[in-house]
Amino acid sequence: MTITTTADSAAVANGAGTGVGTSAGGSTLLGSWRARHSADLGAHLAHHGPIPLPGPGDTSWADRFAAAIEASGITGRGGAAFPSSAKLALARAGRAGPTLVVNAMEGEPASGKDQALLSCVPHLVLDGAQLVAAAIGAGRIALCIPADRYDTALAASRAVAERAGTGLMPVAVTVVRPPGRYVAGEESALASWLDGGPGAPTFRPRKGVALTIGRRPALVHNAETLAHMALVARYGPDAFRAAGRPGSPGSTLVTVTGGVEHPGVYEIALGTPLAEVVGWAHPVDEVQAVLTGGFGGSWLPAAALGTAYAPGPMAAVGGVVGAGVLVVLPRTACGIAETARIARHMAGESAGQCGPCVFGLPAIAQDLAWLASGRADAGLTPRLEGRFGAVNGRGACRHPDGVVRMARSALSVFAGDAAAHASGRPCLHHARPSLLPPATARP
Ligand code: SF4
Repeated sequence: MTITTTADSAAVANGAGTGVGTSAGGSTLLGSWRARHSADLGAHLAHHGPIPLPGPGDTSWADRFAAAIEASGITGRGGAAFPSSAKLALARAGRAGPTLVVNAMEGEPASGKDQALLSCVPHLVLDGAQLVAAAIGAGRIALCIPADRYDTALAASRAVAERAGTGLMPVAVTVVRPPGRYVAGEESALASWLDGGPGAPTFRPRKGVALTIGRRPALVHNAETLAHMALVARYGPDAFRAAGRPGSPGSTLVTVTGGVEHPGVYEIALGTPLAEVVGWAHPVDEVQAVLTGGFGGSWLPAAALGTAYAPGPMAAVGGVVGAGVLVVLPRTACGIAETARIARHMAGESAGQCGPCVFGLPAIAQDLAWLASGRADAGLTPRLEGRFGAVNGRGACRHPDGVVRMARSALSVFAGDAAAHASGRPCLHHARPSLLPPATARP
């Protein structure tokens, strides 16, 4: 896996390879990482200095920390881009003794950023967790890593063990292993699983509704968000805002995969043009389209590659930042066939509790499979639109909405191909091996 920080523009300009350092005042996530070596506690502290935890009797520390987070303008890096300061304020105003849940579930099959973070710079995530736990008065920290990501869990557990007896873990951290399914990382699903439930999303009328584990409140933060918060606490909000753009400050991790020579995790400044991000991974051929945001994201045509990679500009052209994934589709691949494979995978990943999701997604996946293979009947296209309408917005979580968005965007971006497939004349590309991650790429 390629892991590169390009938030330091000097490194990009110099064509530096993987695992480059940083000259951005230390305020990048991967700056302390050196190729093939995880940053152990000693290397981490040598690079970043001590963790600015509250000293004894420092009653204004939590206010100062919250003010720094607000001034940084950081938003959640898990997909929803919710302001981290607002989430922190809600938790601070809530009931005492919450559980802080570190979400490193990464159910998105194409994403590798949580894996990269916890494998390369686990102590940055642990610092962020301890700082937020101190700010909200958390009684415990649950670090959630999917049951099927053994290496990540091992790296995280080693990092937790390194801290034992150092005084750098005032709040106990438990590494827990929920099932590695797409929806298991949805925050209400995580809270449910930690509470002994099935680990399925629960219906919430709006995102601000408080989660609970037992009788205690719970605050769920994405692992990358916490790592950024640790940097903000050390280097200040201005260092964080030195990268990115005014409405979307900071750096972010992006997994670039698909038809590229160097698939991997890249740290970029928000606002970097998509073409630049894709270019660092070296496309194997002329780019036809890019799946943005992951399997529940949206396809963008190559004509949109000039778009700045940040939530606002991406949304304006129909793209998604979401889980920070870019799947590059070369002109020699079939967007309809890849879309059908993704839909089939996503249909199998539902939590199986809402009718539109349970019945609608397999039906959508089946129609897309017929279309991909050139065996569509005359009524397939309007039928698909009907299925999209019947599913969209009807689940307890956003899982089906993401599938509908991804499929709709495919029918628009690959409209010419879709028409050819619908008339029984797909080109030969539809039979090529998939560019998607192995778990998804069955024929
Ligand atoms: S919408 Fe689908 S994935 Fe979400 S809770 Fe309902 S059945 Fe599960």
